[in-house]
Amino acid sequence: MMGIYPSYYEVNGEKKQIIGTQFETTFARQAFPCVDEPEAKATFDLALKFDEHEGETVLANMPEKKVEDGVHYFDTTVKMSTYLVAFAFGELQGKQTTTKSGVQVGVFGTKAHKANELDFALDIAKRSIEFYEDFYQTPYPLPHSWQLALPDFSAGAMENWGLVTYREAYLLLDPDNTALDMKQLVATVISHELAHQWFGDLVTMKWWDDLWLNESFANMMEYVAIDALEPDWHIWEMFQTSDVPAALQRDATDGVQSVHVSVEDPAEIELCLIARSFTLRVRGCWSWCGH
Ligand SMILES: [Zn+2]
Repeated sequence: MMGIYPSYYEVNGEKKQIIGTQFETTFARQAFPCVDEPEAKATFDLALKFDEHEGETVLANMPEKKVEDGVHYFDTTVKMSTYLVAFAFGELQGKQTTTKSGVQVGVFGTKAHKANELDFALDIAKRSIEFYEDFYQTPYPLPHSWQLALPDFSAGAMENWGLVTYREAYLLLDPDNTALDMKQLVATVISHELAHQWFGDLVTMKWWDDLWLNESFANMMEYVAIDALEPDWHIWEMFQTSDVPAALQRDATDGVQSVHVSVEDPAEIELCLIARSFTLRVRGCWSWCGH
């Protein structure tokens, strides 16, 4: 589940696959030659050709500009790090809306889900972007913000700029048959990833040893945003009962890594990411080895 990889699922007993990407931390280099370091920002002109079937959807960081001889061409990205480049294609369903400022917001998933399972995420994503534009006093920098649920996904979610990918259980839910704590978890995962669209994506750490700047701030902003969107949830109480004890417990571990650690090898970057996913894991339904 790194680089360009297939996700497998079934619809009405028929086996299917969609293709997605996971480039954080150093897997963009598996997809195309690049200086694959966060500080080495560049613009990207993505062109995709694949064994395409009728009715398939193609998504990327930027909107599609044209299709010529079966090649999908996308608009030039803004300057960005390689680890945030993303694309996906396959038989997808999607729902879209527009923020007050004109950002296209969409939620996508396989057709193995009921259409109304996309609604909750679409509402939270739209309102999160509106909240952050106001809170940061900085417009969302891209024309669209797609949220895509992938059947096979090793982390919780990934903040690719304009094309955030999620574990299905952290994006899609049946609005009428889901407990409040699960809705709260999904909402905070979405607001966490969308917080990254500004810091992390727009403003990026020079090197992986400062990944904590991305993650600690996003872990806080997910609560700031959801508290503003759903004040009746009293979401800071969840912060007190889950995130705070989890952080204290981790800090009490003998030999725990410090916040800032030097990173020399790609394998060491993975350790930072495992530390960041700790919050999600203690809140339940988390298994690091994927599913
Ligand atoms: Zn994060």
